[in-house]
Amino acid sequence: MKNAQQNPIALAIHGGCGVMNKADMPESDWEAARADLTRALKAGWALLMQGGSALDAVEAAVVVMENSEHFNAGHGAALNTDGVHELDASIMDGSTGEAGAVAMTRAIRNPITAARALMHSGETVMLGGAAADAFAKKAGLSMVEQAYFTTERRIKALASLKEHAKAGTDAKASEAEKHGTVGAVALDAQGHLAAATSTGGFNNKPAGRIGDSAVIGAGTYASDGVVALSGTGKGEFFIRHAVGHEIASRMRYLGESLTDACQHVVFTDLAPHDIGAGLVAVGADGSITAPYNTAGMFRGWIDTNGRMFVATHDEIFETQA
Ligand code: ASP
Repeated sequence: MKNAQQNPIALAIHGGCGVMNKADMPESDWEAARADLTRALKAGWALLMQGGSALDAVEAAVVVMENSEHFNAGHGAALNTDGVHELDASIMDGSTGEAGAVAMTRAIRNPITAARALMHSGETVMLGGAAADAFAKKAGLSMVEQAYFTTERRIKALASLKEHAKAGTDAKASEAEKHGTVGAVALDAQGHLAAATSTGGFNNKPAGRIGDSAVIGAGTYASDGVVALSGTGKGEFFIRHAVGHEIASRMRYLGESLTDACQHVVFTDLAPHDIGAGLVAVGADGSITAPYNTAGMFRGWIDTNGRMFVATHDEIFETQA
């Protein structure tokens, strides 16, 4: 889409690849999730259309999804094995290489906003646990009780995963019970890229576990002229493969296209681990890709022609941007 400056802009989001089978949830719930994806896209797009920064757009889109009960981030986040919410988030500015991340936060309403505030506050890239909560409080961000994050769906998922763990049937647990994340990537009219990711992590994860969504170069990465991406899936392997940086490196050093680099990492590099994995990515020209290897991935994008799409499984819905 050409904005006032006639430069291409683009935006893509995901709400995680921990998605149920289509038949396991009523159509009205899928519709509601798609409506929230649409709201997230519109929030980011409005900023890009006004000439706003990619950084502003990805934060705005992620905040909408953090506030939605449909995704595993902010309100609706996963519970760890102690029944506690510990949230991870990170953001990266592709134009400066600056980044911010918070891990294991327990009381920040919108962890992505804290990650961004940290990025702007000085040299520190990542704060964890009580220090992250204290930083956010001091920065005047909205703080909440744990109950704010809790939903019936995550309580059930935790109980189910504990049952599976007891019975030794972890592999049988559904991707939806296990995990989810939200993320956004954008290209702005100045040609800058940015990426943001936020998550409750894995249901029944060990207390103190930090996933890839807080790790720059793993679940979040952005570099102008190359790519901005946000991942979802079993974070341990996104960290071990440095997925974000790996994709950027394949593009930089091998000259691979956005789609080829992302496909290679998701379908070849991560394949031996037999994990759920997906991501959204935008290239310097505004091209978008959203590969995943699970039954579905909550996702949406607005391309450089201003066409808006949202999807949960194979079927892709086009609506007015
Ligand atoms: N990557 C997230 C984590 O490992 C979970 C997910 O995206 O589903 O914490």
